[in-house]
Amino acid sequence: MIITKKKDFQELYENIKGYKSFFLLGCSECATLCGTGGEPELKEMKEALESLGREVTGTFVAKTGCQVLGTKVELKPFKEAIDKAECIIVLSCGAGTQTAVELYEDKPVYPANDSMFLGNMTRLQMFDERCSLCGKCILDKTGGICPLTTCPKGLLHGPCGGMKDGHCEVSPELQCAWVRIYERMKRLNKLDELRNLMMEPKEWSQSQKPRRQYEKKEKTKK
Ligand code: SF4
Ligand code: SF4
Repeated sequence: MIITKKKDFQELYENIKGYKSFFLLGCSECATLCGTGGEPELKEMKEALESLGREVTGTFVAKTGCQVLGTKVELKPFKEAIDKAECIIVLSCGAGTQTAVELYEDKPVYPANDSMFLGNMTRLQMFDERCSLCGKCILDKTGGICPLTTCPKGLLHGPCGGMKDGHCEVSPELQCAWVRIYERMKRLNKLDELRNLMMEPKEWSQSQKPRRQYEKKEKTKK
């Protein structure tokens, strides 16, 4: 999921203080789980704006804010409220904000959140980055642990010289990613694979932005 955190309200307010009326758009997926764009956060934002004498013409939590067509359909019943608003504030990730930009070309749209990373939720509202979407996954070679992401240096060929007692020199509170890989491969009886691992140079062209995926799924042949 995409991990977001709320912008400081004052920072947002600096951007929107010239407008009198707002429509608030959240997202029921990642932003809701992060506590940055669900019903409670929309209510909180509405109250904050109203306490400053602003009008909130409507609020809506989209099912999946980054899904442009689905969000467009969901927002149809809110046409009047959106037309009445001078500005839209989006409480989701940057992708959700840009859905609103695409749907409302003539209206200012501002993000209420900062988008941080792709994360795993390990406990309630605790998130760890484990994949940086490199475009060419090597988890098949590293026991399912990503050194590109979980090693602060992104080392692909084993630990650096700073590893101490199994811990990372950059973030000593964490286990070294390569120690975790070693321990996992050992548990799986795959140390020979690790010894013989010849990692090819990383194919960075796979992560050149903006990335697109337009392949149509082939129908499964019976
Ligand atoms: S190698 Fe790491 S960053 Fe790349 S896709 Fe796999 S998990 Fe994600
Ligand atoms: S100690 Fe391990 S995780 Fe930390 S930077 Fe070095 S190789 Fe990466």
